[in-house]
Amino acid sequence: KSGFDVERIRADFPILHQQVNGQPLVYLDNAATTQKPEQVIAAISDYYRTDNSNVHRGAHALADRATVKFEAAREKVAQFLNAPAAKQIIWTRGTTESINLVAASWGKANLKPGDRILVSAMEHHANIVPWQFAAQATGATLEPIPVDAHGNINMLAFDSMLDSHVKMVAVGHVSNAMGTINPIEKIITLAHAVGARVLIDGAQAVSHWAVDVQKLNCDFYVFSAHKLFGPTGLGVLYGKEDLLNSMPPYQGGGEMIETVSFAGTTFNQLPYKFEAGTPDIAGAIGLGAAIDYLNALDRVAAAEHEQALLAYAEEKARATSGLTLVGTAPHKTSVMSFLIDGAHPADVGVLLDKQGVAVRTGNHCAQPIMDQFAIPGTVRASFSFYNTFAEVDRLFAAIEKAKTFLV
Ligand code: PMP
Repeated sequence: KSGFDVERIRADFPILHQQVNGQPLVYLDNAATTQKPEQVIAAISDYYRTDNSNVHRGAHALADRATVKFEAAREKVAQFLNAPAAKQIIWTRGTTESINLVAASWGKANLKPGDRILVSAMEHHANIVPWQFAAQATGATLEPIPVDAHGNINMLAFDSMLDSHVKMVAVGHVSNAMGTINPIEKIITLAHAVGARVLIDGAQAVSHWAVDVQKLNCDFYVFSAHKLFGPTGLGVLYGKEDLLNSMPPYQGGGEMIETVSFAGTTFNQLPYKFEAGTPDIAGAIGLGAAIDYLNALDRVAAAEHEQALLAYAEEKARATSGLTLVGTAPHKTSVMSFLIDGAHPADVGVLLDKQGVAVRTGNHCAQPIMDQFAIPGTVRASFSFYNTFAEVDRLFAAIEKAKTFLV
């Protein structure tokens, strides 16, 4: 059904080749975290075997090697996002910390009573709660942009919400709960027209296509390494240079300072100003290897394969009695959220797992949109380029079997 050589790709991912509950694993929880190719695992292990050292401060060979590899990884991320300079790439612990950093630091310097922050109603909690903190700390207000029954941002409503009091618009590039691809180019243009800044949560986008932050002209773009075939514990914050320069430090400690005295402390240059303490060196090197892996892949063919998997799965879903799709936006990543009539999503998830099929169930950290739809959550199957059509068949066979237990 597609010319993409999935079997060759699958050979790179050791974790996929195992049995779960007596069945070959079908891993369809890629929106929660992606699996890691051998190349990433090897890069991390090689680093600990041969180069492990602290970065930037050692006067010895290992420290030099660690620093060179660590900064080369930053450069790879900059190229991956087409950022103007590597110093605009800040390492964090993940998407969550990247957003907390911007909400706390940019928020402190820029928000005041009467200012408005807009987020979409389908955001992940990580793109809601930090803004609630910022609003509470500064007297600004946080308002949701309406989302329709298909899971699309209501762009007319968004347009009508914009005025000169809107200082920040923070939206997901892609919804983790439903896979909706948001029209962020339009959102960025409209927000900039009233002088607002825009943060894009790219956690669910970067694994599917190449992102160009200069073309998008977003002010901030954030993502997590673990959703991009890299390790957990590492995230990225891209920001425009003037904005990052004007923002106060987020955390204090080593690395982020220039000079420290009890009379006062001065801060380091970008990106180190925002990188207090010893960073996740191995994680950064692992992410660099993940980016190398993706660069060697035909990403357009990979995305086409994912879309073909989604189309095949949704066609089967529509032919499945008692199954309702949640999130039917016209532009989606390879995420299929659904409900089985009369069954709680968590029970469906358990019955699928018993058959070796791994999905995610629950509200997907997007409780407001689940509340709007008046559902407790969904069952979410999310496909990556290493998934196969046979695995989609396994999913639907497992759903049919689960139904016999549930209804
Ligand atoms: N935003 C979105 C859209 C996500 O999908 C996720 C992860 N589920 C996050 C933010 C949070 O990412 P992390 O837990 O890696 O910080």
